[in-house]
Amino acid sequence: MLTAAPEVVARPILVQKYGGSSLATPVRIKRAAERIASSRRAGYDVVAVVSAMGETTDRLLTLASRVARDPAARELDLLLSTGEGVSAPLVSMALNELGVPAVSLLGFQAGIQTDRRHARARIVGLTPGRIERELAGGRVVVVAGFQGIGEEMEVTTLGRGGSDTTAVAIAVALKAQACEILTDVRGIYTADPHLVPAARLIPRIAYAEILELASAGARVMHPRSVEIAEANGVQLHVRSSFVGAPGTMICSEEVIMEDRNRVRGIAHEEHVARLSVVGVPDRPGIAAAIFTPLAEADIAADVIVQTASHEGVTDMSFTVSRVDAPQAERILQGVAREIGARTVLAQNGLAKVSVVGSGIRGHAGVAATMFGTLSARGINIEMVSTSEIRITCIIHADRVNDAVIALHDAFKL
Ligand code: ASP
Ligand code: MG
Repeated sequence: MLTAAPEVVARPILVQKYGGSSLATPVRIKRAAERIASSRRAGYDVVAVVSAMGETTDRLLTLASRVARDPAARELDLLLSTGEGVSAPLVSMALNELGVPAVSLLGFQAGIQTDRRHARARIVGLTPGRIERELAGGRVVVVAGFQGIGEEMEVTTLGRGGSDTTAVAIAVALKAQACEILTDVRGIYTADPHLVPAARLIPRIAYAEILELASAGARVMHPRSVEIAEANGVQLHVRSSFVGAPGTMICSEEVIMEDRNRVRGIAHEEHVARLSVVGVPDRPGIAAAIFTPLAEADIAADVIVQTASHEGVTDMSFTVSRVDAPQAERILQGVAREIGARTVLAQNGLAKVSVVGSGIRGHAGVAATMFGTLSARGINIEMVSTSEIRITCIIHADRVNDAVIALHDAFKL
């Protein structure tokens, strides 16, 4: 007699990333565990990727600065990785307490291999065997985000906010059905809701738009996570860990049908400084002479403007974040001497305001509306830069709130 083998139906896999604020207290950890348990009841195999509790990572950085002026990068990574090393077992314990079998894994146990660049490591491989075996054994797997293992078993971290990237990499490796980024806000908004009360939740946004918003100062996703998601066609759902309502879907541009708005959102960044190298001899190699030493010092120059050359000399201006300004100024003074530039000027107290949207492409009207809106408020534009889907203006920091509110209104967001 033949007996039919019991039908093994693979359960769909759901990866859920819980941010630090969603795990900030024991009560919140229990709430996260309940949410994981309910996803499991809904029929999913769940991998939960966790950030460190609350402000733990910042506290660890402060601690390090108390004992050393310039701690070694590998020591810092080992220290910072302990934040997630605490939250992961706590979430697992809370699940067990609810009667849900669970196991927590550090990055290396979860098979997350990285290169050796401490504090900004990239994931170069993921061996999901252990995670798969735990799931097959009926357990929820709780993975410590933000960390991996490099050559010679060195513990590495992926850069601030890197747990997003851990979650997406795992979702890709496991061919998960969905990847949710659970946070303390309902999703991604048309502008910072603390600043613009009328800001709306964006239901769908394209990968490229998120990357532009992030580079324009919006504190959204870890950019690398978005790149990996796009390259592998993983949709990301950014939503609140506290309520059940849907949040923002990050997906490809083609998926977004209701594309009436040319502008999807407004981002801003305060604490911008401008540096100008004045009276630069206008010849080939000058820009490289200015920007190479900055890059070597890991200082990102942002909006760059070179004025039209006049009698063989030109001015080169660009922005950096305020914290980098003193070091950048020192470097430039050296460069100015070498290349025979007249002087170096530094100005603090600036801010960046950007409009972002795939619909900006090819529509000159967006720039006109942006400039007109700012000028109607008497806000002076210091510098401008654009990408295909972003227009950024540098303005005085004390006008940034006005600017964001006015632009939000002008583009009918
Ligand atoms: N705990 C790390 C940070 O605060 C990583 C993360 O939260 O994603 O940056
Ligand atoms: Mg965090």
